[in-house]
Amino acid sequence: MLDQLAPQAPDALLALIKMFADDERPDKIDLGVGVYRTNEGATPVFRAIKKSEQRLVDEQDSKSYLGPEGDMGFVEALMPYIFGEDASMGGRIEGMQTPGGTGAVRLAVSLAQKAGVKRIHMGVPSWPNHAQILADVGVETVTFVHAGDDGQADLGAVLGAIRGARPDDAVLLHGCCHNPTGVDYTSDQWAEIARAFAETGVLPIIDVAYHGLGQGLDEDVAGLRMVLAAVPEALVAYSCDKNFGLYRDRVGAFFMMAKHQDELPAIVSNAYALARANWSMPPDHGGAAVRQILEDADLTCLWIEELADMRARMRRVRERLAAADNEAPGLGLATLGDQNGLFAMLPLSKEQIAKLRDDHAIYMAGSGRINVAGLHAGNTDKFVAALADVAG
Ligand code: PMP
Repeated sequence: MLDQLAPQAPDALLALIKMFADDERPDKIDLGVGVYRTNEGATPVFRAIKKSEQRLVDEQDSKSYLGPEGDMGFVEALMPYIFGEDASMGGRIEGMQTPGGTGAVRLAVSLAQKAGVKRIHMGVPSWPNHAQILADVGVETVTFVHAGDDGQADLGAVLGAIRGARPDDAVLLHGCCHNPTGVDYTSDQWAEIARAFAETGVLPIIDVAYHGLGQGLDEDVAGLRMVLAAVPEALVAYSCDKNFGLYRDRVGAFFMMAKHQDELPAIVSNAYALARANWSMPPDHGGAAVRQILEDADLTCLWIEELADMRARMRRVRERLAAADNEAPGLGLATLGDQNGLFAMLPLSKEQIAKLRDDHAIYMAGSGRINVAGLHAGNTDKFVAALADVAG
């Protein structure tokens, strides 16, 4: 039976991690893996998380089961940061904890399908797992172009997708810090997108995986809030794995917004049933650590400070790259200064990417996606010089 299984291609980024580890050149640069790095190239545990975890070790008195919804204190503490002052939109939003943003996307797609959604429109390129999840759940993927060669979002394409959608379609958007392009919709564009959703009644699914890593905690969800204020129903997938540095602890949340408060229990009960069939309940530790931060004013201040430092560092790297536009012409570096988050796409050929790796020990995804947090004061000049070399 099991010998019927055809081998699957390994994850390309994991193969890249191994190649990078095996490279003995001391000045090698890893721009592949999608984690934040400090100026020293480290991905440390947040100080706020360390303090919170210590408190958990000292004070947690049970690890007994929770329900499929996980730690609702965590979910509710998060909501004002995402949805604003009226965090439940008059009782129309309810959430649950999930194993990472991945678990939340999985639930969003599965729940949409259970509600009758047959196709999901999504901008490309996108986080590769979006297409994999859609295929695995069995929902048809319909694509539109997310961003043009000019480094700007293609507003016409997303509006065309929403306005041309069938009644049993949904549209999946990145809330902020688009992966892999870094190209986000402007506030005016979000307003048009919100209007298109409102006028058509198409279900929005919004994936927020990098909240606070773009322009700011409020700014990064301003578009999401515009959409939610305009539409009757929406699904939101959220990750705490980047903005709390919890990656392997798998911390996320899934939110459902119903037309009316009294419809929520039935919707939520379906999400609980899906969660039980998938993972029963989410892992507790990381969510509990986040909850304790958000319930404590001092720890919250510390977290906000740490997040602001990360954001400022990535903005500095982006500004340096944008200023290097003349040094490596034709790569659109100037647009990187306006983009957000960890990622940017460089229009490099397979040959140029291989040359960067072979001649300069610079590792990036085969798509030309770079993690800007892999750059810092000590290696950005080398990176720009290498780009100039391969572009020339
Ligand atoms: N959505 C997007 C757009 C992402 O980039 C990621 C993480 N790479 C996720 C969701 C999932 O994040 P998590 O690690 O929390 O599962």
